[in-house]
Amino acid sequence: MKPANPTLAASGTTIFESMSALARAHQAVNLGQGFPDDRGPEALRAAAAAYVVDGHNQYPPMMGLPALRQAVAAHARRHYDLDLDPDREVLITSGATEALLDCFLGLLDAGDEVVLLEPAYDTYAPVVRRLGAIPRAVRLEPPRWELPRAALAAALSPKTKLLVLNSPMNPTGKVFARDELAWLAEQLIAHDVYAVCDEVYEHLVFDGATHVPLMTLPGMRERTVRIGSAGKTFSLTGWKVGYVSGPEAMIRPIAKAHQLVTFTTPPNLQHAVALGLGVDATHYAGLAAAMAPGRARLAAGLRDLGVEVIAGDGTYFLVADVAGWMRPDEDDVGFARRLVTEAGVVVIPMSAFYAAAPPRSLVRFCFCKDLATIDAALTRLRAWRGR
Ligand code: PMP
Ligand code: GLN
Repeated sequence: MKPANPTLAASGTTIFESMSALARAHQAVNLGQGFPDDRGPEALRAAAAAYVVDGHNQYPPMMGLPALRQAVAAHARRHYDLDLDPDREVLITSGATEALLDCFLGLLDAGDEVVLLEPAYDTYAPVVRRLGAIPRAVRLEPPRWELPRAALAAALSPKTKLLVLNSPMNPTGKVFARDELAWLAEQLIAHDVYAVCDEVYEHLVFDGATHVPLMTLPGMRERTVRIGSAGKTFSLTGWKVGYVSGPEAMIRPIAKAHQLVTFTTPPNLQHAVALGLGVDATHYAGLAAAMAPGRARLAAGLRDLGVEVIAGDGTYFLVADVAGWMRPDEDDVGFARRLVTEAGVVVIPMSAFYAAAPPRSLVRFCFCKDLATIDAALTRLRAWRGR
């Protein structure tokens, strides 16, 4: 038999899938994979169900239902004062995961360089490599995860085609500050580099922090696409409805990829998300407000247990340095697996977000859970530490 594609054949099952499988097998409290306990707004679930029964269940338009494209454009205007043409500058995809793939397929050529900020979400690098493009990792350091300006400037070259910016950033929780974005924008313009902005956590910011889309900075509108996810914004992660918006010259090739990858996204879900994006601003403020108590409870509980908590201002994750809990010969993956069997708690080892030389003792905890779930995890951790 001839070999399968070596890049994909060599890659394993994602850490999120494998840790959630372990959680199920051991009836562990799952603070690994990011999905809320909350069931999502009832009005959206009812609208999606009613549409299946009463609506038109055949292929929707390739670019997405007009109502949803208009809702995405209106949302961008309301929140960020961005002016997008819903007919030519908005594309609906089956989740942000597909949107990212479409961007890479539509924009990259073999040999192009792509700057990724590490720790980086785990789907970026494998796709870039599979396309024959070259990921250039630029590393951020805890606890502040500041933009490493010198390293970034050194990574940009005439070969750099695009940079991926994930803000608010998974797994660090970092929300990039306006001055960091202004500096980054200048660099990208000077080197004629595209920005693919993964902003799926745009509405998950805490402690008064503000999410600023890179696209809103001077000179960036024409070289930036912005990706959002209804899964994150409405706590419906299984729905897989994403949206990409940006200049027509970028959206056109990205839509060419979309028509090869999925072509369309289920119409009932698009219809319900259009209703959701139309709701008043209280939903967005309420989303983070509802998760804030769990965030505080988890951070305080972990600190009481003697670990250093490195919390950012965004996403629904926080990072902890568990060096004090680890065995000398153990890496983060070994520790996380042992934690499942010994304590009955699932976390994500941070090495999943690095191409090489990961930090040894950092793990990610997810806090978008009911307080009862967070308390159950803390009770188990306390019992485990007490043994
Ligand atoms: N980007 C980041 C940074 C994420 O955390 C996620 C979460 N799964 C995604 C993209 C994918 O989002 P979706 O579920 O809409 O595909
Ligand atoms: N984005 C989610 C996380 O970071 C997981 C998504 C997935 O499992 N593919 O936990």
